[in-house]
Amino acid sequence: MPVIDLLNDDPRKRTGAARHPEKATRPEHPALPKPPWLRVKAPGSALWRETGALLADAGLTTVCQEAACPNIGGCWEQKHASFMIMGDVCTRACGFCNVATGQPAPLDPEEPGRVAQATKALGLAHVVVTSVDRDDLPDGGAGHFAQTIRAIRAACPKTSIEILTPDFLKKPGALETVVAAGPDVFNHNLETVPSLYVTVRPGARYFHSLRLLQRAKELNPNIFTKSGLMLGLGESRNEVMQVMDDMRVAAVDFLTLGQYLAPTRRHHPVARFAPPEEFDAWREMALAKGFAYVAASPLTRSSHHAGADFARLRALCAGFDHAGAL
Ligand code: SF4
Repeated sequence: MPVIDLLNDDPRKRTGAARHPEKATRPEHPALPKPPWLRVKAPGSALWRETGALLADAGLTTVCQEAACPNIGGCWEQKHASFMIMGDVCTRACGFCNVATGQPAPLDPEEPGRVAQATKALGLAHVVVTSVDRDDLPDGGAGHFAQTIRAIRAACPKTSIEILTPDFLKKPGALETVVAAGPDVFNHNLETVPSLYVTVRPGARYFHSLRLLQRAKELNPNIFTKSGLMLGLGESRNEVMQVMDDMRVAAVDFLTLGQYLAPTRRHHPVARFAPPEEFDAWREMALAKGFAYVAASPLTRSSHHAGADFARLRALCAGFDHAGAL
């Protein structure tokens, strides 16, 4: 797999500041050789550059870059990008994540408008907006999410809006603020099984995240809910099945399953690479458990093909109550 260093111009590199200060003293683990099914084409086409230039001119951050997503070549060539709002520095330090940890900058009040204008310029029929965790803000950034949703609605009324939010832990009223803004899809990733939270998502609580998904559906049954898991962190088969059952009890409509890739050797190690056939089997099982839609493959990410998947999900659920009843 080619090395894609999209963060060469990271200002933290120029200043010598560590991107992951909390991981700096951890021992490096050996990297497993990548199997052929994880090979991707190196990005570099004219369309890829055009998308990058448009985003850079707009002064916007994307999760595509910050998460070092392996799909960036294919997505940006099709002018699909996922916006990351509220800065590029996160207040948490998850064991799997490439986003920088530290003290974030104040919110930029112009950002919601710029996201809306970029959505229009890229001609997105479906937009995915995510963010860093902002535990430093009284509302966890819920108001900024709501402003962004409203700005996109005003500029691009035909565009469907998917938000991938933090857990808003200990921020009363935050979820209500976001749901009231009326996204089409509310996504919050459980990421892994509860036994691995202490190392993979140390700042999060499994049952809080699960309840957040359930509450979003209770607040507005017309919103599609979505969540994702990474395989290869050290979870057992039974644990994955239990999480799927928990998600269905929480009325989650759409499940994504992808392979975990360690951003550096000091992140949580990859325990194994699940082959593509295993993802096919998980998809069948998840559909049998009642999910309305399942995206499962080694390179599946929350926002990968999110627009096409949402269109299929909406078509499948047309005329049905998708309030998630088992
Ligand atoms: S899968 Fe999502 S994060 Fe990755 S490049 Fe595509 S749009 Fe960006």
